Amino acid sequence: MSKCSFCEREAVYYRANEGNYYCKYHFVKSIEKKVKKTIREYNLIKPGDKIAVALSGGKDSASLLYMLHKFSKDNPKIEIFAILVDEGIPEHRDPSIEKAKELVKMLDIELHIFSFKEEFGFTIQEIGKAVLKKGKHPCEYCGVLRRWLLNKKARELGATKLATAFNLDDETESIIMNVIKGDMIRIAREAPLSSIISHPKFVPRIKPLIFIPEEEVRLYADLNKLPYEGSRCPFRKYNSLRVETHEYLNGLEKKSSGIKHMLMKNGLKLAEIVRKSLDFSNNPIRECSICGEPSTSRICKACQLRKEIKEILSSS
Ligand code: SF4
Ligand SMILES: [Zn+2]
Ligand SMILES: [Zn+2]
Repeated sequence: MSKCSFCEREAVYYRANEGNYYCKYHFVKSIEKKVKKTIREYNLIKPGDKIAVALSGGKDSASLLYMLHKFSKDNPKIEIFAILVDEGIPEHRDPSIEKAKELVKMLDIELHIFSFKEEFGFTIQEIGKAVLKKGKHPCEYCGVLRRWLLNKKARELGATKLATAFNLDDETESIIMNVIKGDMIRIAREAPLSSIISHPKFVPRIKPLIFIPEEEVRLYADLNKLPYEGSRCPFRKYNSLRVETHEYLNGLEKKSSGIKHMLMKNGLKLAEIVRKSLDFSNNPIRECSICGEPSTSRICKACQLRKEIKEILSSS
């Protein structure tokens, strides 16, 4: 590879949409600068915030925790801790929990682990096959239940913000998928700081990495020698719309670099327009009549899905 565009060192990365080469030092600096800019521009963090970082043991959340820890060292008014949800997919989750433990030890950060088994009485591994047989996808259950658990536990631990490590690839995939499905609420939710749900029991979610492509997050984690687990969840392959959208966007990006950034920027604009046109006053956030967690309907989605799972398991 050529020399860095900003110094005399050897480059480790070529950012095609900018036409710049980066050495290790300037690459790491450029990622941190971009993330700081996102935090500043979208007001993601305020002094006095206690941030729960959703850690998975993968490269994205490892990088996010490392960066937020680094930034908060200069700002004693910000507190960070990590929270990990074990969905119970042993071949994938067990090694990633070990990596997460290594990372928090290295950074001297508190880690809280919660499991589906303890909280809900089943694991995704246990319900996976039965759910697939019914023509449903385990991710539909896993994602909703994980968000429910993260919000509840982050709040109980005193967090004022919940930071998740979705990167540019994750977010652009979601934008396309939400448009395909015509899911207006999810389209409206697209933002670095969750803004359409306001309830004392809802911990606002922040997504500081949404402008960083997946391959750059991976390189950031590697250059900083962060411990992380690289395997993918075995259930991901059944989510064919996400997998195909992922491939499609990568193909587009190869042919015309910068397309994901453009889609992200326009996805945020679209979200703003949809937010303005949807009347949320007809659908206020209330407390679920079963679990008491914030919900747009009388019974929250997590409780509805838990009921569905019970029925699926008893009929299988
Ligand atoms: S890929 Fe699906 S099942 Fe696996 S951890 Fe993610 S959401 Fe859960
Ligand atoms: Zn350089
Ligand atoms: Zn509920």
